Amino acid sequence: MSFREPVRAADEPGGAVDFPPVENGLDYLLSVIELLAHEQDEVTPRQLKYAVLHLQAATEVLLKYRLYLEHWTLVLQNLDVAKAKPNKKMTRAFFSGGDFISCTPLETVERLRSVIGLDISDDEQKQILDLAKSRNALQHYGMTDTDGTIESRTAEVLDFLVRFLDDCLLPELDPADRERVTEDMERIRFGLTKIRSYIARRMERLKDQLAPDEKRTLQCPDCRQWALLAGDPTSCLFCPATTNSQLTAWNYASAILRLPWRSPPPTNDLFSQPSTPPVDPCPDCGADTLVRGAVTAAAPERPTNFCFNCATAFTDLCEICSQPFRAVDEQSTCGNCLSLGSGD
Ligand SMILES: [Zn+2]
Ligand SMILES: [Zn+2]
Ligand SMILES: [Zn+2]
Repeated sequence: MSFREPVRAADEPGGAVDFPPVENGLDYLLSVIELLAHEQDEVTPRQLKYAVLHLQAATEVLLKYRLYLEHWTLVLQNLDVAKAKPNKKMTRAFFSGGDFISCTPLETVERLRSVIGLDISDDEQKQILDLAKSRNALQHYGMTDTDGTIESRTAEVLDFLVRFLDDCLLPELDPADRERVTEDMERIRFGLTKIRSYIARRMERLKDQLAPDEKRTLQCPDCRQWALLAGDPTSCLFCPATTNSQLTAWNYASAILRLPWRSPPPTNDLFSQPSTPPVDPCPDCGADTLVRGAVTAAAPERPTNFCFNCATAFTDLCEICSQPFRAVDEQSTCGNCLSLGSGD
């Protein structure tokens, strides 16, 4: 694969920095703000769809432009391609899907972190990659997400992008170019607070509803709000996307607690999925829905072992097998170990 419009090195002495990609990225962000920063509570599925697509486009353009400023070859997926090509002036087409294969979202973030040494946290990396996944799902399967999730996730990524622009990208531009985007940046900041206040208004309305159930209220792995009610059925009051307690337990363990899946993949194939989710069988109901280290709204500072199916927290660990169990009469070993011991 080759690209017909090779680009020049951005660090060429005296070479003017091409400005359009930043303007282009901010334009996408303004569109996201227009679509989501609403006074009324209803956003149409079509508005949500374009919000995701435009946020993803903005993220891609802005992150890759920072790579480009370091060295144009960093934007290519296959770095070898660059060797054979003479440097020429970069064109706008380069960033709007030119005739070359650019690096993947994961490669982009990894290069920003490891090659340029930018401070991007694991959480931020995950938010960026999740966004790219939502965008792909949207392209292939249509809009499946409901109101709430997208606003929450958008706010997270927007937060990151504003910081990224302030700390990592805008300082690299000429003062005159920076000046030109000041107004757009202010509109984006203001829009972000409106999206945040929309989320806060909805959570405020859910507060009374959630209050009596704080012992089984957890952070939702989809929308990240503290609005997930575990039990049968498990559902989130903020984004009614989750219903299956087992899937929710898996998602919670991976997305919120960042627990790696157990048992390594059978091959060296990096793309194959490990097959054992990071959950345990519940000592009470037996379902594979017990998550170690889960946190409920009732005790946010005290992680516990929580079953998403029977919505029970097991605070005791067996002295012998260290499995969670329900202690009766201050016993310190679980039923299994107790019966094994008395069998001798
Ligand atoms: Zn949710
Ligand atoms: Zn259970
Ligand atoms: Zn035991």
